Order: sequence, then structure tokens, then C-alpha cells
Amino acid sequence: MRLLIMGAPGAGKGTQAKLIANHYRIPAISTGAIFRANIAAKTPLGQRVHQLISAGEFVPDVITTAVVAKRLLEDDAHNGWLLDGYPRTTDQVEALDIILEDAKRHLDCVLCLETDPETLIDRLVKRAEIEGRADDNETTIRRRMEVYTEETAPLLATYEERGLLVRVNGEGTVDEVAGRIFAALDKYSA
Ligand code: AMP
Repeated sequence: MRLLIMGAPGAGKGTQAKLIANHYRIPAISTGAIFRANIAAKTPLGQRVHQLISAGEFVPDVITTAVVAKRLLEDDAHNGWLLDGYPRTTDQVEALDIILEDAKRHLDCVLCLETDPETLIDRLVKRAEIEGRADDNETTIRRRMEVYTEETAPLLATYEERGLLVRVNGEGTVDEVAGRIFAALDKYSA
């Protein structure tokens, strides 16, 4: 199974991505997590992206796509994967199309976690307290929301037109949301 998980910042993508990955035995690949690991390890990539991420801005498409293309070639991604946080721009959608075409693979579905915009900022502020992410301060959170609305939310229409979009209610407990997701995804996992 090859799928994307989409939704606004704070919608719970990372948490659900891990549960989906366990359930269907596929790797959950988060571009944000890859960048954070590189920042923590002070790699050249980490040093390049650190400031942009701290400001809530996107990392340039060429860098992000290179990271994803390389990661998808690793052994554990051979039989399927879940991408969390990629694609986020129309150019990234096109880049992923090319990666998939080259590999003669296709996306099974694009999961969208739908959440009440009012609760998102609260969730992110709480996460900032727990995880201490450098990009979880209020100014950056607001910027990430703006960038999401401008650049990423329109991609949902693209995947909807392709008949790939599966909308799931992201409100409720982690288990409730996971239950809805598994119910929606089971038909793709055969
Ligand atoms: P996330 O953990 O998915 O919220 O990502 C954290 C940050 O990493 C984002 O706010 C961006 O700065 C950067 N990032 C992650 N994925 C992408 C992407 N696909 N395109 C551009 N920037 C990204």
C-alpha cells in the first residue's frame, strides 16, 4: 500500500501515521522528522534547513524531493509506504508523480485528516509544551497555518479530482481517529 496522509499542522498526522505504519507494516516517512533528525545531528542538510523550519517556512522543493526520492529507494519502502508531510506544493505533487511513474508504482489513496481549525492552534501550543519543537512557537505556528492554506490545502482538490482522496474525521481520541482510518483503509490493504 502506498499512501499519503494530509491535513493541517496539528491535525494529528504524525501520531496517526505511526499507527497506520504499524498496522499495515509499512514505513511512515515524515519529511519533517527527517529534517529534524538532520538538524539535531548538525548534518549539512540540517544546517541548510534549520532557519527555514524554525521560521515556519517551507524547505525548497528540490531539497525536499531529493530527500524523499532517496528515502523511497531504501529496502523497507519496497512494498509500500506512507508519506507524512510530502507533497506540500504543486511542484512536489508533480515530482512525486514522476518518482512513482519511474518506479512503475501508483498511489492507492490520499488520506485527509479533517479537523476543526479552531482546535489546531491549541493542539500545537500543547505539543510545543510537551515536545519542545523549535517550530512550535505561536508566531511560527501561525505562519505554518498560512503556508498550509496557501500552498498545501489546494492539493486536496488535485487528489480529489484523481479519485484518490479519502476524508476522515480527525476529531476525537487517538484511538477513535485510528479506528476510522483503518475502516477506511482496509479495502486498499489486500
Ligand atoms: P512537519 O513535521 O511535517 O510539520 O514539518 C516540519 C517543517 O519541515 C515544515 O514546517 C517545513 O518547514 C519543513 N517541511 C517538511 N516537509 C516539507 C515539505 N514537503 N516541503 C517543504 N518543507 C517541508
